[in-house]
Amino acid sequence: MGPVVLFLLAACEPTPPPEPEPTGPAGYARLDRATFNRVAVHQDLSLFWRSDANGDGEVSPDEVAFVWGGRVEPKQWVTDGSFTSNFAGAYERMVHEVGSGAPPDGPPGSEARRRSLVLRELDAGRPTLVEHDLSGLPAGEREMVARVLEAATWIERLYARQRGVAQIGAELGDDLPSRSLFRRNQGPWCERSGLADDPDCHTMPAKRDEAEQRGRPERHSGLYPASLQAEDPNFCDTLAKHPMADVLLSPFSVVGRMADIDLVSVPYTIAWQDDMHHVRDLLRQAADALPANEAAFATYLRAAADGFESNEWGAADEAWVAMNSKNSRWYLRVGPDETYFEPCDRKAGFHMSFALIDPTSVSWQEKLDPLRSEMEGALAALAGPPYRARDVAFSLPDFIDVVLNAGDSRSAVGATTGQSLPNWGKVADEGRGRTVAMTGFGADPDSLAAEREVASALLCSATMAVHTDDPGPLLMSTILHEAAHNLGPSHSYTGPDGKTAERAFGGPLAAVMEELKAQTAAWWLVDWLVPKGVIDEATARAAHVADLEWAFGHLASAAGDASDSDAYTRLSAVQVGWMLERGALTWEASAVAANGRDQGCFELHQGAIAPAVDGLAREVLGMMARNDVPAATTLVERHLAGDGPLVPLLPVIAERVGRTPRPSYVYAVTY
Ligand SMILES: [Zn+2]
Repeated sequence: MGPVVLFLLAACEPTPPPEPEPTGPAGYARLDRATFNRVAVHQDLSLFWRSDANGDGEVSPDEVAFVWGGRVEPKQWVTDGSFTSNFAGAYERMVHEVGSGAPPDGPPGSEARRRSLVLRELDAGRPTLVEHDLSGLPAGEREMVARVLEAATWIERLYARQRGVAQIGAELGDDLPSRSLFRRNQGPWCERSGLADDPDCHTMPAKRDEAEQRGRPERHSGLYPASLQAEDPNFCDTLAKHPMADVLLSPFSVVGRMADIDLVSVPYTIAWQDDMHHVRDLLRQAADALPANEAAFATYLRAAADGFESNEWGAADEAWVAMNSKNSRWYLRVGPDETYFEPCDRKAGFHMSFALIDPTSVSWQEKLDPLRSEMEGALAALAGPPYRARDVAFSLPDFIDVVLNAGDSRSAVGATTGQSLPNWGKVADEGRGRTVAMTGFGADPDSLAAEREVASALLCSATMAVHTDDPGPLLMSTILHEAAHNLGPSHSYTGPDGKTAERAFGGPLAAVMEELKAQTAAWWLVDWLVPKGVIDEATARAAHVADLEWAFGHLASAAGDASDSDAYTRLSAVQVGWMLERGALTWEASAVAANGRDQGCFELHQGAIAPAVDGLAREVLGMMARNDVPAATTLVERHLAGDGPLVPLLPVIAERVGRTPRPSYVYAVTY
């Protein structure tokens, strides 16, 4: 396979005619910041107006960030601290777009309708900046950052090949919103609910020289032969029944077809050798640049580089779990890992997560490590017999401050906030994987304002007064949640019937119970840690409000089809429903929400939380200790779609949360 240029380089761009620099007082104050950032996405500019630092309402060169992965080089926007004429032209076109209003819609199948849907899809994600200034680091580490970011562009190219969209990317015309959508969604399709199934929502413009429209591109994975996918809609099942299924569906290989008949397994390193060798070389250069005190990281970079040559990932996994928050300030995972993106759920998608260790996690690890046995004893008492406290030895998760997510890790909207890897091999089989929780998402001023907006639409004034912009309380609750996955009846526990939760409850219910246990224990442990002096009462109260807001966020997705809901949504329903029934949370129908506009709001009664949560923890842990399937089924079913008090309030939650677009993260790194 020859190289295919996925993202056109800046040099290949059709250069728009230069436009005169605007004069007069209006200048660069004609667009407010939110509009600037939204329209910059429409026009695929890879620019983000970070903040109006000097408060003059005008965008200035030191207030913009240059988004990673864009088609325009930063120096084309700003040189010597001033905006270029290129920027001036782009600004005029943005003003023109806003002044022209929404583009006309058109009949189904028309190019006008397609263009209007593309803008709607883009607007469903609020561009949100994740920015790091690493320019103060020692030269060696800055060199490493440069090489790792360069490797990330090849990772995205590999991921595009896996998704079968690399060729489509090369065929995009000069329709800027469509190119922007292709870059953000890493494919030609719309993804937001209500748009994903619309046949007109895609990036492929009508061919100018043909009357016939080009329809939405079929989803053909790049991991299986196109002919197989076209002739057999159940090709995943067919492959699973194939005598060579184990080989064909192995995670690090592509299925190919020889002479249009025989299916063969082609290792990633052969299918995409050139791209993989680029990543290999860049990771080795990154390792060479690192100083001696980053030896653990350099070892991982070299082992991962070897994986891109050999397709053997075991040594990289060993080096990866040997890295931790004590021996490196960096976090990197690069290679093929998760399978959710592909139709058969078997092949590992290429991704990169590049981050700095968040030092908060180190301080929490130090506070909580000595309490592990005591926490296990407390949760064992809540569970009751036949569960007995075990010896627990587990590592608390590292918190990572993400610098860049690329490939399968870069979502169009939202972001993964926790991950446990690897999925295969010796490290996974022996339970020696590493768990991380991602921080930094949502810490920017725009996200904080959006969260306040959502919270003040749902909460009454007294509860809203406890809402905080400080990420600390929610972070603390997250670390307790992750710790609790290792406490009480867990994956390896067998109940009185001799079955694990997985076998007794079945996959989906077991997953809900495990998450419900972890999140209920997080609420419970917050109050348990106050008298121990580990946290103060104000932090505990703020954590409860933050956890409630987290639950509302998940419940907002449940108003459609409850049967579709994931484990977090289901556990949120149980918690909120339970607290409504016990008066720890009340719906004040006659009160006005803290935003002063919405009729009806939620009030959290701090004094009633501890007894309600204690009751729920005993129920949930007890059901898991006894493998009580009927009781667990009733508990989980009634709060989302049954007769629970939350059910009639779900549409209200969905409407108020849904008013604020979800974040679409863009990354900017200075080094
Ligand atoms: Zn969890």
